[in-house]
Amino acid sequence: MQQRYSGLHLCEAHFIEDVERKVKREMRQRSMVERGDKIAVALSGGKDSAALLYMLTRIFQNRSDLNFVAIAVDEGIHGYRALTLNNAEQVAKKFGVDFYCFSFAEEFGFTLDDVVARNFEQAPCTFCGILRRRIVERKARELGVTKVATAHNLDDEVQTILINYIRGDIERLERLRGRREEFVPRIKPLRDVPEKEVAIYALLAGIPLVNVFCPYASRSFRFTVKKMLNEVERKHPGTKYSVMRGYERLSTFLPGAQPERTLARCERCGAASASRICKACEIIELMK
Ligand code: SF4
Repeated sequence: MQQRYSGLHLCEAHFIEDVERKVKREMRQRSMVERGDKIAVALSGGKDSAALLYMLTRIFQNRSDLNFVAIAVDEGIHGYRALTLNNAEQVAKKFGVDFYCFSFAEEFGFTLDDVVARNFEQAPCTFCGILRRRIVERKARELGVTKVATAHNLDDEVQTILINYIRGDIERLERLRGRREEFVPRIKPLRDVPEKEVAIYALLAGIPLVNVFCPYASRSFRFTVKKMLNEVERKHPGTKYSVMRGYERLSTFLPGAQPERTLARCERCGAASASRICKACEIIELMK
């Protein structure tokens, strides 16, 4: 492949080496993996999370002190999620890790399709993200997991940074940087790898892939930002890395550079929350 941002042309072997080098460097620099960790990979069945599970089990194949499991969430999206979940199960089986699947329907009594049918003002992704995080956090604790690995790649991270710049949301920008004591720590080993490279890596690794897309994705603000970023990257290669590096320099000046205040507990469910009632409980209440 031609890496336009670096000027390199890479053959298959060197491309794989380059992607894994970025992942290992990111994990090392941020001390993502520690002795004795039990790591849950949030597995959707898509290319990114499947590639992440493959990489982690490959990179740490000789580390008997580490334990990997896969957690999947069925949000209840007709015509989409069943296909990717089926793939997620196959992928977990292929890489020899235990697979756990939980659903909105069982946990909350409604699906994401039910939420969308109510025509709330916010985009489906807003509800989806909050509820999925709730399930993953709760189940990770029940399973005795010490870290949750998510497959956010460079594109995802840069989109989040830009969304928060555009909204002027300094608090969320600051939250992107670090861990909060109240939650099971999240790690993002793919954060320095462009989405396109994760996709090529997954193909080369022979990971089973499904070619379906969430019907709600295009309704989100993220989708608009994604299209814009891809267009700028096409015309000016290296833009995504430049936004990321700029954010990393800027983030040392954000308020979170000072000690964090401890979050309160939600009055309903007891989860850590910045407000009296957490966002997940607010949605559950709305759906009643
Ligand atoms: Fe959920 Fe949005 Fe992802 Fe679809 S695109 S699965 S609605 S977060």
